[in-house]
Amino acid sequence: MAKGIPEIYGSLVFNDRVMREKLPKDIYKALKKTIENGTHLELDVANSVAVAMKEWAVENGATHYTHWFQPMTGFTAEKHDSFITPVGDGQVIMDFSGKELIKGEPDASSFPSGGLRATFEARGYTAWDPTSPAFIKDRTLCIPTAFCSYSGEALDKKTPLLRSMDSLSTEAVKIMQLLGKTDVTRVSTTIGPEQEYFLVDKALYEQRRDLIFTGRTLLGALPPKGQEMEDHYFGALKPRVSAYMHDLDEELWKLGIPAKTKHNEVAPSQHELAPIFDTANIAVDHNQLTMEIMKKVADKHGLVCLLHEKPFEGINGSGKHNNWSMVTNTGVNLLEPGRTPAENAQFLIFLMAVIKAVDDYADLLRISVASAGNDHRLGANEAPPAIISVFLGDELTAVLDSIENDTFFGKQPLVQMDTGATVLPHFFKDNTDRNRTSPFAFTGNKFEFRSLGSAVSVAGPNVVLNTAVAEALRQFYGELKEYPADQMEEAVRALVKRAILKHKKVIFNGNGYSDEWVNEAERRGLLNLKSTPDALPYFIKEKNVELFTSHHIFSKEEIHSRYEILLEAYSKSIHIEAKTMEDMVLRDFLPALMTYTGQVSDAVASKKAVLPDLLCPSQEKLLSKLSGYYEDIYAAEEKLAADTASAEHMEDALETARFYHDTILADMEALRSAADVAETYIPDSILPYPNYEKLLFSV
Ligand code: ADP
Ligand code: MG
Repeated sequence: MAKGIPEIYGSLVFNDRVMREKLPKDIYKALKKTIENGTHLELDVANSVAVAMKEWAVENGATHYTHWFQPMTGFTAEKHDSFITPVGDGQVIMDFSGKELIKGEPDASSFPSGGLRATFEARGYTAWDPTSPAFIKDRTLCIPTAFCSYSGEALDKKTPLLRSMDSLSTEAVKIMQLLGKTDVTRVSTTIGPEQEYFLVDKALYEQRRDLIFTGRTLLGALPPKGQEMEDHYFGALKPRVSAYMHDLDEELWKLGIPAKTKHNEVAPSQHELAPIFDTANIAVDHNQLTMEIMKKVADKHGLVCLLHEKPFEGINGSGKHNNWSMVTNTGVNLLEPGRTPAENAQFLIFLMAVIKAVDDYADLLRISVASAGNDHRLGANEAPPAIISVFLGDELTAVLDSIENDTFFGKQPLVQMDTGATVLPHFFKDNTDRNRTSPFAFTGNKFEFRSLGSAVSVAGPNVVLNTAVAEALRQFYGELKEYPADQMEEAVRALVKRAILKHKKVIFNGNGYSDEWVNEAERRGLLNLKSTPDALPYFIKEKNVELFTSHHIFSKEEIHSRYEILLEAYSKSIHIEAKTMEDMVLRDFLPALMTYTGQVSDAVASKKAVLPDLLCPSQEKLLSKLSGYYEDIYAAEEKLAADTASAEHMEDALETARFYHDTILADMEALRSAADVAETYIPDSILPYPNYEKLLFSV
């Protein structure tokens, strides 16, 4: 019989249970202290942990180990070393030391560094992150690590995340001390990232160069049926999808990833997976692993998992919802309003800090979700707008209103849900309804940042969020610290009132998809940074550099290097798309169009050869249409090719990115619309790759 889930859960993870079993008591305690309080780890502890880790890994079939890290490509990287060490006369033992555990030296020069590598040595270091558990993947012990340059600049996504978690913890603890919660010594941020994805048949995928090279379709007319019937969302799972999801869950569970919820999403072939939330750092690692395992398991099922934000034109793309909160070492969720939010000083401070953070650093939050892929979604009436605002819901808005206006906000009665059917169980209504159109929504005891793209690491948005909230808390502390304990409650109320007046412009409970909101947001002075090249220059604005440097998240050099990397990544990905599109049009599409045009022309000619007086105006019209399409497509293709060639000589990164946005994307759109019209005429048997209908409805 198959093993039960509790047995397989975490079976490939060097988790707390294994540590307790394998480590000497004092070593276990020292390691736990580091994990829980973020204290420094001594080498003798590391040595002892390394021995236990290796033993456990070898018992579980591992032959190699790797420092697993997250360079700024957005993917994970690994370089495998085996445990073998020769001991003379042709024998080997399996060996692994504390030094090998805590430090690795991959060559840093082939990873994006945005200029940091020009000024510094190629050498890079990976450093063990003991707060995220090691695991086994493909018979390799994977050790989560941070990645930095020889001189200590962060070259990855984990280092700034850990720095930002520390900063938030420091500031939050100071506030808790002011509120008399002296037992709080550490505050962690928690994340639950909901991941959307598409599944397509592998055999079909392999026939489309656009999917292979860019992860999205660059050509393709919509089938007669898309998502308009709204019948896919939460629909029953098809057997092939269900088998995939079962397998996926099991693989994730083995890795200790608490996959919890799965369902069909809005678009055909679109699905979602949500884990139970975890500490930010672990949740980020888990999300990276989840994306990798999703692809791997799909392959086993003859499927391909598409994580791109916009695989198909005309139907919804994929995002990632970043559920976020803060929890103390004593287990208290700081965004829990309780039954009487109006009197809950602790809740009000932390709530207000988040609102202030979003208002003060909306530009950085927007940047943290900016990518060529995600630009297709934000503001496109399927995802939140590019305008960053906060949804609070009616009750909390009323609470803040009452503070602003010095009126009383009473305890809200629980409202019983009346379904009108007596046999149904009775339950109470939630105090906030859902709002799906807000980029940043309060959802009961956490915020949900909904603008994230499906393909990218969730580290970046959380670095911004943690740091911006840390800064808001730092300022609040400055305003509160002089008050004695017996005046604190009043001081908090006054502070919250001041903060509401200043930041209420960022609160919006209405429909974020509407045109009225775009106008209203402009009146309120909120930013609407529509594209990645519009947003990125804000990264290096003085106030943002000041934020990151003062909290020791990034140095000025690190900020500029990341700015360059993001701009380059944007231009490069559109460049690859443009080249792929040209290729598909010239080598696949136009030949197919020509073949069909030839067939129509031959048919007309052969009929006329037999019956010279035959009138066939419709067929001639078709022929002339097809011919016209060919000309249009060819002309659009030539323009794209010429513009792409000219982009290759541009020097300035921002100017180049703007050119890709303004010119190349527009060229691609023109080419696509010309080709998509023609596609509806070409028989399936002639088109050399599968169309949307097959891709979307065959799994
Ligand atoms: P939905 O938004 O689809 O209704 P849920 O309410 O089930 O979903 O929660 C979505 C995600 O939020 C889950 O991953 C869940 O674990 C996570 N979540 C719940 N509480 C917290 C918290 N305090 N901090 C971070 N994430 C949380
Ligand atoms: Mg959600």
